[in-house]
Formats: sequence, structure tokens, C-alpha cells
Amino acid sequence: MDPQKLLETSDPGAVWRVHQAELDAATRRVFASGRYILGPEVSAFEREWARYLGAGVSVGVASGTDALELALRAAGVARGDLVVTVANTASATATAIERAGARLACAEIDPATFVLDVPALAAWLARSDAPAVRAVVPVHLYGHPVDMPALGELSRRHDFAVVEDCAQAHGARVAGRRVGTFGVTAGFSFYPTKNLGAFGDGGAVVTSDMARAERVWRLRQYGWALRHVSTAPGMNSRLDELQAALLRVLLPGLDAANRRRAAIAAAYLDGLRDTTVRLPQVAAGVEPVWHQFVVRHPTREALRQHLERAGIAAAVLYPVPIHRQPAYQGRTSMPPGGLPEAERACDEVLSLPIHPHLSDADVARVIDAVRAFR
Ligand SMILES: *Cc1c(COP(=O)(O)O)cnc(C)c1O
Repeated sequence: MDPQKLLETSDPGAVWRVHQAELDAATRRVFASGRYILGPEVSAFEREWARYLGAGVSVGVASGTDALELALRAAGVARGDLVVTVANTASATATAIERAGARLACAEIDPATFVLDVPALAAWLARSDAPAVRAVVPVHLYGHPVDMPALGELSRRHDFAVVEDCAQAHGARVAGRRVGTFGVTAGFSFYPTKNLGAFGDGGAVVTSDMARAERVWRLRQYGWALRHVSTAPGMNSRLDELQAALLRVLLPGLDAANRRRAAIAAAYLDGLRDTTVRLPQVAAGVEPVWHQFVVRHPTREALRQHLERAGIAAAVLYPVPIHRQPAYQGRTSMPPGGLPEAERACDEVLSLPIHPHLSDADVARVIDAVRAFR
């Protein structure tokens, strides 16, 4: 008998296998066009992505990290400003904040949903010794949206900008509205394993404020206002024609892929009740897109190894909180009580496979393997 196939946490190659004919046609179209940078495919994808989200404008850039940096700069963040995010995020969030010239701060998370605890942030900012905050970057981690109405209210009270990190939440909604449309600006990543993934790097800044979109258009290409005339110190961060054309093939299937993820999540939530793992919770009024399905276990490493022996790859996103990483240690501001919930999450989280190309039999195999863990 063949050994059981290894179940991976993502399978970008499956996207190619399923959509091969259309992807091939798009590739040929771009190669034959002679336009490879900032042409009609990028413009068309930008329009289609903005329409999908219900946002004003989308600007294609080279990666999610660049998108966040440019989103922060377009939101008015400048050298020395304090920007708050969470500690259990991808290093990329912190990288983008520092590249925008800002100082990094982390606030506490809600242990049930793993995302920014808005009441805890409110309590921190209400203290007399609270720092002045220029912007907050809510990370819709694992595809679960932050409470954006509550954060919006807090931003008006304390006069900070909200810049969303939507790298894991393509299509997720709060009160019926897609994430990426709540902040003054937002950044998306199209890294191949994300819910909408390219075949290389890519990203987008989203905003409904034309002046801010204008700023990103300039910054992404050398700060040019006119060709060869720079009005700001910019950078080179452009989405390729090829990636845009491939993303246009996949965008119409995004909602169906997210529904498949939700069905798998429902199967896990049902199949893993009354086990030793703690299951993720969904806050009222939000519609997550299950970029990851993250369980908690006090002996996470033993569970990971048990699954590995059963041929199931489970990932740890992320093992080290930002404020304990060598690059950021000692210069991350945080609330007086520290970040015990974020730290505990980093010690206990484990992502089970949840990409849309898993079969029902694969999902049953994961459930059986977790249930067999003692
Ligand atoms: C993937 C990711 C990013 C960075 O995106 P890249 O395209 O890899 O630069 C930023 N934030 C979060 C939360 C991510 O998951």
C-alpha cells in the first residue's frame, strides 16, 4: 500500500492544477503584449479588486510588506511616530511599521479570537501615562476580523489613523462590510499561500481617499508625479502585469474558495469538540475567511509531532512574539501589564491544514489524528 500522502498546511500548486488552462492563456496574453510593468492588466486588476471589496481605489504594489509601508506613509505616518499593532503577528507587520519610519508598539490580544483586544487598547490609551499614538494597525489574523466599529470609535476619541493589515483576510467581513474598507488605508498581500495568492510576490494598498491613493501612485514609482520628475522620495514597488493577469483569473473564485475553507472549519469545530485542544472562536457580527484554523494546546510541540507522525503538517504561526524577536526586543512599547495573552498564544497555537483543495477524506483524517492524541 502507498504511504498516505502528506497533508500540507497550504497547496499553491493545486491552484495551478485546477485553473491551468485559464492561467496559461493569461500568461501568453501578457508575454505577447510586450507590456510587463504597470499596464492594462494591473489597471484592470486594481479596478476589479476595489470593486470586490467595495473600496474606492486599489493600488498594486510588489508585496504585502510594501503595501503596509505605503499604506502607513499615505495615512500620514512619519519618522518618529508611534504605531500600535499586536505581538502575535507576522514579522512583516513590524517591518512595515519601522520602514515607514515609525516606532513600534504592541497592544494585547483577545485570547478567544487571537486578534487585537480593542477594550484593552482603550484601557491603555485612557491612562494618564499613555503614549501619543499616530496610527493603529489592526491585523485580521488567521482571517478573523478585528472589531472595526469599536476601533473606529476609539480612533476618533484619540485621533489616530487606522491602517488595516489584511494580508490574511481577503473577503472577510464585519457587519456585512469587507475588511480593507474600514481604515483610512489598508494593505493586502498576494503571497502564494494567502487566500488570494499570486505566483510570486504581490500586494495592494486600498483606500477610498483619492489624495492618499495619489500619494501611493507616486511613492510606488520613484516618487514621480510626472515621468522622470519626483516630488517625494519614493521607492520601486510595482505589481507585475503577469501577476495581475494571474490574479484576475483567480479573483472570481475567491468567494467559493473561502466558502470551502468555512466548510472545513465547520467540520473541524464539530469533529474536535470535547477533545484536549482549545478551538478558535468567532466573534459576533464577523465573517472570517479562515486563512488558518488555529487550535491551542498546552503541550503544542507534542501535538505537532504526533500529527507529523500521522503525515499531517501543522504549522506554528507564530512561535515568537514581536517584542521578543531579536530585531525588536527592547524597543517595542507595550502596556504596563505587558502582553501575557499574546505570549501565551505564541506558546500554544497550532495551525491545522485548511486550504480549499483538501478533500473531505483529508479533513476526516486530520480530525481522527487530533482525536487520537493523548
Ligand atoms: C503575509 C503577511 C504579510 C506580508 O506580506 P508579504 O506579501 O509576504 O510581504 C504581512 N502581514 C501579515 C499578517 C501576513 O500574514
